[in-house]
Amino acid sequence: MFDFADGSREQVDLLGGKGANLAEMTKLGLPVPPGFTITTEACRYYLAQGEEPQSLRVQVTMALRRLEDQLGRRLGDVQDPLLVSVRSGAKFSMPGMMETVLNVGLNDYSVKGLADAAGDERFAWDSYRRLIQMFGRTVLGMPGALFEDALEAAKRRTGARTDVELPAEELTALVESFKQVVAAHTGREFPQDPREQLDMAMRAVFDSWNTERARIYRRRERIPHDLGTAVNVCAMVFGNLGETSGTGVCFTRDPATGKPGAYGDYLGNAQGEDVVAGIRNTLSLEDFARLDPASHAELTQVMRRLETHYRDLCDIEFTVERGKLWILQTRVGKRTAAAAFRIATQLIDERLITEDEALHRVTGEQLGQLLFPQFDADAQRELLTRGMAASPGAASGKLVFDSATAVEWAGRGEDVLLCRRETTPDDLAGMVAAAGVLTSRGGKTSHAAVVARGMGRTCVCGAEELDIDVETRTVKVNGTTLTEGDVVSIDGSTGEVFTGRLPVVASPVVNYLERGLDAALAEADPETADLVRAVDRLLRHADRTRRLRVRANADTAEDATRARDMGAEGIGLCRTEHMFLGERRVLIERLVLAEEAADREAALAELLPLQRADFVALLTEMDRLPVTIRLLDPPLHEFLPDRTELAVKVAVAEARGEADPEAERLLAAVDRLRETNPMLGLRGVRLGLLVPGLYAMQVRAIAEAAAERRNAGGAPIVEIMVPLVGSVMELHLIRDEIDQIITDIAESSGAQLEIPIGTMIELPRAALTARRVAEAAEFFSFGTNDLTQTTWGFSRDDVEASIFATYLEKGVFTVSPFESLDRDGVGALIRTAVASGRETRPTIKLGVCGEHGGDPESVHFFHDAGLDYVSCSPYRVPVARLEAGRAALAADTGL
Ligand code: ADP
Ligand code: MG
Ligand code: MG
Repeated sequence: MFDFADGSREQVDLLGGKGANLAEMTKLGLPVPPGFTITTEACRYYLAQGEEPQSLRVQVTMALRRLEDQLGRRLGDVQDPLLVSVRSGAKFSMPGMMETVLNVGLNDYSVKGLADAAGDERFAWDSYRRLIQMFGRTVLGMPGALFEDALEAAKRRTGARTDVELPAEELTALVESFKQVVAAHTGREFPQDPREQLDMAMRAVFDSWNTERARIYRRRERIPHDLGTAVNVCAMVFGNLGETSGTGVCFTRDPATGKPGAYGDYLGNAQGEDVVAGIRNTLSLEDFARLDPASHAELTQVMRRLETHYRDLCDIEFTVERGKLWILQTRVGKRTAAAAFRIATQLIDERLITEDEALHRVTGEQLGQLLFPQFDADAQRELLTRGMAASPGAASGKLVFDSATAVEWAGRGEDVLLCRRETTPDDLAGMVAAAGVLTSRGGKTSHAAVVARGMGRTCVCGAEELDIDVETRTVKVNGTTLTEGDVVSIDGSTGEVFTGRLPVVASPVVNYLERGLDAALAEADPETADLVRAVDRLLRHADRTRRLRVRANADTAEDATRARDMGAEGIGLCRTEHMFLGERRVLIERLVLAEEAADREAALAELLPLQRADFVALLTEMDRLPVTIRLLDPPLHEFLPDRTELAVKVAVAEARGEADPEAERLLAAVDRLRETNPMLGLRGVRLGLLVPGLYAMQVRAIAEAAAERRNAGGAPIVEIMVPLVGSVMELHLIRDEIDQIITDIAESSGAQLEIPIGTMIELPRAALTARRVAEAAEFFSFGTNDLTQTTWGFSRDDVEASIFATYLEKGVFTVSPFESLDRDGVGALIRTAVASGRETRPTIKLGVCGEHGGDPESVHFFHDAGLDYVSCSPYRVPVARLEAGRAALAADTGL
């Protein structure tokens, strides 16, 4: 137990946020009504044992007596009663999740004492009816509607429009009917003993920690379930004492936009939550200043005091009782992403915080939110259905059901939404052309979702109510049938699907990243300009501070341009598989079908110039910046036609008495290559060792491209990366071939070629034997996606939809290990590989590619693990830059 006068804000674990800040304000000498805080420790005991500790009753009595003596009044006294509020308050604020009861101490006798002491009958009965109402709802667990209905009936009877117009007699009658409602519903009279009221309210606050909605909220916000809440018992002050009283909330700056200047709402003759409950129209702070200049002036001073003390935006609850200002709560206020950036830089300019502190106060997640266009929140909307929020953003367009149509219509300048049951690599062109992607199957890590996030394309996936019929080009949903060309809007941040086109607001921050500060400022209104300047400033500070380099995963020259716009300092992963799609697929088919060395070599010879041209374009775009190219990774059959399609083709031909030898051979090849578990089959370096000439062709294309660039006066920096290595021997074998090719090409072209060869670390065995692997690898790049799959034994595509919901619910993990790196397991392997890899080769370059490279929490881990760089999709690059800066700060200054 702590009196407000004895605590401080440092004790937030024990006193909860509300209690710690009440204590802090008391210490500052602000006008806070006195009271005391029952600690979270007592709550934890109560929740574990089912009853409060024995000593708590004694301590409450002592604290209560101190409070009574200080104020010269007794709790629930019949003459001039002390009343208290019993308020919840956990370490992390959980707005609206837990309970508070006001006016504790009122009963059939003290209500009269209160009326006499205040000289106001109406006020006393209004306070009493509020107590019964709140106590009934939160302590006795009664439906709030029981009371609201009675209140509405009373208003109707007297013709009152709002509660303040109810006269004293009517309120007296209302109290009577509230008491009857309580007795009827609970089978017990409303408790008249003030101390019993207090004890029951305290237990109700403890219990509110475990309500369903509180648990859900904590899961979402990743707040631990075992903290418990404190209980604050606070002397009542009354905003419902007539026209010179009222209650309000204010923020020292605008928490929605970050605009400087105070912002708030005030409601006259009101108590507690009335001001936010929307029961009457509130006044602005300007109106409040006209109504009660003295209180407003004092409030302004308090706001300044608090902002100076906390050096941040404060959120304040206050009450005016007959012209006297009381402060009831403060906390560092929650704010939108835009406000976070703007306020942080304002505070630098006001010399209240340092640049380091400002950087600490904004997060990568907030920056990520600022990058996506959004639907205009004020627009009218009609919800069609809902799916999973797979890739944020807001997109409207005409529905199309296949990739070719998407490309064709987009080519005519139309916005289209590609709507598929699920997407495959074949849909890539359509996804690029579309404004957004909508699927009826698959989870947040389905092909559609991963690819869409990678390209920054808006995506809603797994909208299961969609019944898509590609044949008739229609989709049925909830009784509506939409046809190709009908316009729909999808919100990738919420998973909502709307009919028609909704207006969007573009992200000025992306505009800034793509076109530079001056161009972005030129077309921005002052508010937006302030935001863009704030982002620029903090991002540049992060760049100055960070030690991790940030690269991007980019496969084409186009991706590379975007990556550079976003600030990437190189490419950490260029996948080569996309280079074998489309028209080039037939060449892979020929390679697979080749029966003799000559056929195979012919197919590879045709692929060589195509690959080389891809790499020349990429290296031109990334001149002077490192580009890590990964040799082919996926199993070859992924490039072959679908088995069912082939089987049908063969059968149809046979039925006609003809033969389709081409299809028959392909079908045989597909059957030959079929694997039970392709993820663990013939892929990665195994392809390189088993398919003669394949890796050699790729290496040749890379080396020739580098030579061509160098001879043309460029400065290519290219690295070759071998995937899925488990043993150093695999790498040695491949290297023998690779080194020879590079030497040959250096000689024949006359270009000086320095091409480091390294490996991905994506198998536990590679991590565990990194000391050996480093003998043959000049760099490691942690493929954290596969490493997570192989460490957990999860097949991502299979488990995410079927298992993860339950695992999250049961607390096996609090966040998917594919979203945020599993530090204990996968992280331990990474640390092992880092340490032993450096033992063998102190200068070994260490990076990470895979989506974790753009995840804020994972970036902090990679910094701590001592990696040299992270690589992520281009749109995550700014997020990684910011978080890498914050990680360096955290490590160096403890911020
Ligand atoms: P929350 O955590 O939901 O903000 P609070 O404990 O702050 O809940 O209380 C709810 C409302 O009651 C707030 O508007 C608060 O200002 C008001 N309130 C709490 N204690 C008192 C008090 N002692 N006197 C007057 N109003 C109070
Ligand atoms: Mg409050
Ligand atoms: Mg991999």
